[in-house]
Amino acid sequence: MNHNSIINRIVVFAPHPDDDILGCGGSLAGHIEKGHIVKIVYLTSGESGSIEIGKAALGGLREVEARSAARILGVEQTDFLRWPDGYLTVQREYLRQLTSLIRAEKPHRVYLPHSQDAVSDHLVTHQLVMEAIRRAAGPWYQECPGGEPWTVATVLGYEVWTPIAAPGIAIDISAFMDRKLAALREHQSQLIGYAYDEAITGLNRYRAVMNSRCQYCECFQLLKITSLMDQPAYD
Ligand SMILES: [Zn+2]
Repeated sequence: MNHNSIINRIVVFAPHPDDDILGCGGSLAGHIEKGHIVKIVYLTSGESGSIEIGKAALGGLREVEARSAARILGVEQTDFLRWPDGYLTVQREYLRQLTSLIRAEKPHRVYLPHSQDAVSDHLVTHQLVMEAIRRAAGPWYQECPGGEPWTVATVLGYEVWTPIAAPGIAIDISAFMDRKLAALREHQSQLIGYAYDEAITGLNRYRAVMNSRCQYCECFQLLKITSLMDQPAYD
């Protein structure tokens, strides 16, 4: 096993397909370039995300879009939990599954929506995953299979359409912005009538001007840092 695979397993939790790309797509491309192992877990398949396309067809379509988008970043591992879009709640069964998943995947770093996100499914995803991370680390909750307790070293909150008020870290994604936008454009069902590619270019450019000297940045809320040695290494 090489060193990278020991210290760099990454799991991303996305409430809907495309939140992963918008929130941390550039950073994920950076992880892949470094040889890190990335898995994206979609809590819902985003079946409520269109007025033009009905729910029955949309969930499957968005899973196809999500896989194509992830592949453009170099991410091959995707997992669809297929919980109901628009109706996520903090509940026992979801906590049990997420705690098991963290114990099984043993990520060193987790990306999830930040704590002030105004979209209900995003905020609930934040609450569910933070609690699952806490539960996975201890010896309790043995009804959650997946193996031994596991402590996630670094937890970063990403921003989608609710900007983080006080970002804790800015990651330079200039080298990966084109790839991020190409991945986003795989989410064709979401781009009908909404220029999300322009919106995210604006946000990432704004972050770069205000937080760093690079061309494009993704900013994150620092939710947990165990060691200063475990900082992003993209430069
Ligand atoms: Zn979303």
